[in-house]
Amino acid sequence: MQMMEKIFRAPILNPIDANTWRFYQDGALGVDQGLIVHMGDFTAMLGQIGADMEVENLDGVIVPGFVDSHLHWVQHRVTGRFSGELLTWLQEHIWPEEARYVDTDLAQAAATQFYADVLRAGTVMGMSYSSPHAEATQIALTAMRGDWVIGNVLMAIHAPHTLTDYSLHDPDALRAFMCQTDKTHYALTPRFAPNLTAASLKTLGQIAAESQCLIQTHLAESVTELQWVKELFPDAAHYTEVYDRAGLLTPRTILGHCIEMRDEEWRCLRERGSWVAHCPTSNEALGNRRMPLEQVRAYDIPFALASDIGGGPSHSMLHVMQRFLGTHREADVAVAPQEALYRSTKAGAECMGRGAVGGDLTVGKRADFVLLPQKPAADSVEAWFEECLSGKSADLEQRPLGTWLRGERAA
Ligand SMILES: [Zn+2]
Repeated sequence: MQMMEKIFRAPILNPIDANTWRFYQDGALGVDQGLIVHMGDFTAMLGQIGADMEVENLDGVIVPGFVDSHLHWVQHRVTGRFSGELLTWLQEHIWPEEARYVDTDLAQAAATQFYADVLRAGTVMGMSYSSPHAEATQIALTAMRGDWVIGNVLMAIHAPHTLTDYSLHDPDALRAFMCQTDKTHYALTPRFAPNLTAASLKTLGQIAAESQCLIQTHLAESVTELQWVKELFPDAAHYTEVYDRAGLLTPRTILGHCIEMRDEEWRCLRERGSWVAHCPTSNEALGNRRMPLEQVRAYDIPFALASDIGGGPSHSMLHVMQRFLGTHREADVAVAPQEALYRSTKAGAECMGRGAVGGDLTVGKRADFVLLPQKPAADSVEAWFEECLSGKSADLEQRPLGTWLRGERAA
């Protein structure tokens, strides 16, 4: 057996795939230098525990830390405060808030609060949209706790100058900024098609190809947005084609929402290998339709779950899992708790290109985990897990008993 500094002893639930998880009633998680060096039944490793090894008994159930594949950290302060039709909501509430991140003191305080809150709720990784400001984006990168990929939103047109004036949509300025940032934590982030021209989207596609960085944007979230895109790009067959012609659809691309989609658009995503970030709570809050999970499954599109704060009413991934199960079941589409956990952990890490280092509790990965309260009365693991997802979002934000990053208590 490999050397290890510490063993956490508790029941462990580890996601395998969309249909399967593995539960260890008396589990052991061995950690050395922040990495998992053992995971399995405690009794199986009893004989190998040295006298100098520390064993910490945890009163709860260990699950991997959560991954949020799409959120706007610069909307955290107004999460849940506004709702309404997507475009009006952006123009009246969200863009004025994002414009405030020109103030670096405000950005610094907000970043510290954001990371503290998401860790408290069990989120250890994710894909994050920043405001257009280079400084605010750098602040979020520097203040980072956990493993995040962040991009300054790129928006040149059809938005207030308080945002477009600061957007690095000029290719030279953008390339220069990207050179200063850690490539592994940076995503090229065109906000959405209406904020850029076909020519500038194409330039971004070239920059993405040169740098091989992750790409994140929004696609087909609402009916009014779809109509606007049709007017702005009249010669595109559909919304998906606007991005595809620009070379922005790759296996490193994560597309928020994907609701108002035609069959040929799903086929296109399938061919490009792009990911969907599915945001059920945001879609409900802004009155958008349900993402057609049946289509996503039929076309075998990879997807991960996301809170999409501030469109989503809470940064809790437990709340996102609750509504993922709820919204699709209400439409008579079968979804299992195993899938909810998998889409909030392992699938999220994979969409970020982090499948080898995070997302579940496999030996060799980072010891990033969450402790959920044990419910001894539950007669099955499924029933226990669904119990963990029940309640109001404010309660779910506080439900984890603790969050660990690289084997160290972080919240
Ligand atoms: Zn979003």
